[in-house]
Amino acid sequence: MKEFDVVVIGGGPAGYVAAIRSAQLGLSTALVDEYVGKDGKHALGGTCLNAGCIPSKALLDSSEHYHRVKHKFGSHGITATGLTLDVSKMIERKDKIVSTLTKGVAGLFKKNKITWLQGHGRLELGMKVRVSPVAGEGEEEVVQAKHIILATGSVPRTLPNLTIDQEKVVDSTGALEFKEVPKRLGVIGAGVIGLELGSVWSRLGAEVVVLEAMDDFLAMTDEQIAAEALKEFKRQGLDIHLGARVNKADVSGAGVVVDYEDAEGEHQLEVDKLVVAVGRKPHTDGLNSTEVDLFVDESGYIHVDEFCCTNIPDIYAIGDVVRGPMLAHKGSEEGIMVAERIAGKKTRVNHDTIPWVIYTWPEIAWVGKTEKALKKEAREFQSGTFPMRASGRALAMEETVGLVKVITDAGTDEILGVHIFGAAASELIAEAVVAMEYKASAEDLACIVHAHPTMSEAVHEAALGVHKRSLHI
Ligand code: FAD
Ligand code: AMP
Repeated sequence: MKEFDVVVIGGGPAGYVAAIRSAQLGLSTALVDEYVGKDGKHALGGTCLNAGCIPSKALLDSSEHYHRVKHKFGSHGITATGLTLDVSKMIERKDKIVSTLTKGVAGLFKKNKITWLQGHGRLELGMKVRVSPVAGEGEEEVVQAKHIILATGSVPRTLPNLTIDQEKVVDSTGALEFKEVPKRLGVIGAGVIGLELGSVWSRLGAEVVVLEAMDDFLAMTDEQIAAEALKEFKRQGLDIHLGARVNKADVSGAGVVVDYEDAEGEHQLEVDKLVVAVGRKPHTDGLNSTEVDLFVDESGYIHVDEFCCTNIPDIYAIGDVVRGPMLAHKGSEEGIMVAERIAGKKTRVNHDTIPWVIYTWPEIAWVGKTEKALKKEAREFQSGTFPMRASGRALAMEETVGLVKVITDAGTDEILGVHIFGAAASELIAEAVVAMEYKASAEDLACIVHAHPTMSEAVHEAALGVHKRSLHI
């Protein structure tokens, strides 16, 4: 039986990063992954590289180019005639990017001498992992581990009264594979994924209707930003219905009939395709958790402490399959921490400074607490905001929608949260993360020189605004 210092189950951004870091630290490492791509071949990278972060950003970019040429070039004096859209080419480009990256991870595995075991991993008593072939190829094998890292990720949630056929009723994976732009697209769920994918197809010309069960829009986001974002997305053409709970959907003739109810009663909506984006759930199927006494909580998450230790010594769990936000970078950081702790280091992850991004246009990004959360904690705070319309660079780019908000402790001025709605918010938020990691105050941010003209000046101005010192508003 082969023996390894570390066996990782799951090759997404949590698992593959844990494997690379383990190998860098001199630990003999194997990683088991069962993912098989649409070409029938095994691929590393998990949801993120194959059906999540990367392919969605590839389509996002294509759709933004199309939208700009069609709707935004005119004001620059640029006229494009004969504009056409080739969705299959767009999908091909996306697939190429995915394959470049997944092959890149396989290359990193080779370089770091990590054994890639292709198949389904199942825990067995005595720190063993059974690897079974999934595509009918290869032999079953059992490997012995000193340490096991579980990184089995998450899968899309669905609703009881509908069937995902990946043709007319699709989950997020199917929504990355449309062969043409649907005329009418329904999206269930105005969460991170529903808004991102809804925006992609809307920019490409689909009429998009979003049905969201909750009355509040983006409840986890800063309230002012959520309100501005709702207004902006509606202005862009997304037909967002809040307080609209979908009960069932049936494929009927050429389309899909969706039954939903809101405060006014029951309604039916007919669409050509329906994206079900009602969240994701932790994935522990077939892991054999009960037999090995691994504690999985009532919501299906593997129970871990702050260092990602499970209830079984030397078995760890990281990424989407454990508590915390389902974000790739959160999983990767947990992977690094666990590998380093196995190697005897004292690494920890600061869960309070994990940045969130919603990849709409403009983007929404934040780190730390919202005013609503601070009010709940009865913590005294002060805040400064700066609208993008007052930024010279935003004006030059015609990207004047949005704002930056910096929230600090009323007594110490330590930054407690930064919330951004605007072009390049996903990049701008990095400055706020660094500031918060170093426990900076708004005053510290205000003292830092920001290049002119850049979008980052809006962060600077919002920090000045905490002490009512903004210069350009
Ligand atoms: P996963 O990436 O889900 O990987 C788990 C892997 O384990 C899979 O390959 C799976 O096949 C394998 N596996 C599971 N069980 C077993 C087993 N028993 N044996 C062998 N293999 C197994 N996050 C961001 O941070 N930024 C984004 O922009 C972003 N965009 C997204 C867009 C979409 C459309 C979706 C769906 C998700 C997006 N996410 C994004 C979320 C992100 O993809 C996840 O947070 C991330 O992939 C989680 O990483 P993970 O390693 O925990 O799990
Ligand atoms: P997220 O977890 O960010 O991907 O968001 C998923 C969204 O789907 C949440 O805002 C949920 O409120 C929403 N949702 C879940 N079930 C339903 C349903 N039956 N009808 C409409 N929206 C739903």
